[in-house]
Amino acid sequence: MPKKVNQSEKLANVRYDVRGPVLEQAEKMEDAGHRILRLNIGNPAPFGFEAPDAILVDMIKNLPYAQGYSDSRGIFSARTAVVQYYQTKGIRNLSVDDVYLGNGVSELISLSLQALCDPGDEILVPAPDYPLWTGATTLSGGTAVHYKCEETDGWNPDLEDLRSKITDRTRGIVVINPNNPTGAVYSRETLEGIVRIAAEHDLIIFADEIYEKITYDGAEMINMATLTGEDVLCLTFSGLSKAYRVAGYRSGWLAITGPNWKAESYLEGIKLLSNMRMCANVPAQHAIQTALGGYQSINDLILPGGRLKAQRDLAYERLNSIDGVSCEPAAGALYLFPKLDVEKFGIVSDEQFALDLLKEQKILISHGSAFNFDTADHFRLVFLPSVEQLAAALDRLEEFLSGYQQI
Ligand code: PLP
Repeated sequence: MPKKVNQSEKLANVRYDVRGPVLEQAEKMEDAGHRILRLNIGNPAPFGFEAPDAILVDMIKNLPYAQGYSDSRGIFSARTAVVQYYQTKGIRNLSVDDVYLGNGVSELISLSLQALCDPGDEILVPAPDYPLWTGATTLSGGTAVHYKCEETDGWNPDLEDLRSKITDRTRGIVVINPNNPTGAVYSRETLEGIVRIAAEHDLIIFADEIYEKITYDGAEMINMATLTGEDVLCLTFSGLSKAYRVAGYRSGWLAITGPNWKAESYLEGIKLLSNMRMCANVPAQHAIQTALGGYQSINDLILPGGRLKAQRDLAYERLNSIDGVSCEPAAGALYLFPKLDVEKFGIVSDEQFALDLLKEQKILISHGSAFNFDTADHFRLVFLPSVEQLAAALDRLEEFLSGYQQI
């Protein structure tokens, strides 16, 4: 008998269900000729959101000079642009040597956890989460411990719950702001509370701020690193995928601020792993300076009259008008995380709900438990499709739910 090729044991508990069985079913249906409306991932380009021209022009112009590997942390001009950008936001003492460019934020999230975690080390991750944080922690040998975000409190982190989950193995706290999947934008008070806890327990803060430029109705987005100062080591993650609509170019950064002196070994580890992956995609690095320094066209999409704001308003209002569905508003990002009345619909599995909706109405959403949320009564809706598409999709959702009984 030929020997079977098995995946490594370290993958045993690694999950990434937002691209799991429901998506596989959707792909099968597409292969069979069905048109599926994808409300499942935050990928702006397929919905007609184009990148600013200046970014494309800059990349094209620089292609001839982007053939070789760059410095493993990234090209100097782009890292300097990141430093300057954060300086304007009030983040102090960020050195260009502490900025790393990556193939999207995703690569840098994995890299920073790989460099930190020993078996048994715990990372506090929000529930619901962006599941890469949990998966990458597990893959790194660490343990993701989830702290609650409270729907009835605008999906704010429950700081008492967060505090109660700290043990002598806790190494860091992940804060996703603006949040995927809930759309929450955290107040100064909440962020200061997290910083206080991190300072008391000597924890690192991992601030995932990839949606920092996508806020609505004047919601104030406060960069975590403006609050952590010299007390708390803060790793800030952001990039071009969302605000500049170039998710496919894979361009993100990590900026490390705070007491570097006590993290020399960790920072050496990050540098080692950065060296081992050679460098991030160089043409996309060239887009960073132009993106951060140029016209911020994202504002035209999120301000009143803007396409993203109109889509968010419609999705929020229409979801709340459906019998058995309720939803908190999203002050930022690209998502709503509505709640289903499980008793009314007899829901025991949110994944089954997503599959049933897909099969009956050809609408693809992500079920709440894919975001490490422990009750089967939520789903995430991406409001990137046009107002017309969203309105039609939500009519279909209403029709589907009017007759839905899972058990
Ligand atoms: N962090 C959050 C909260 C996200 O929602 C995403 C993508 O959806 C990422 C990170 C990954 O972004 P990137 O395209 O930069 O890898």
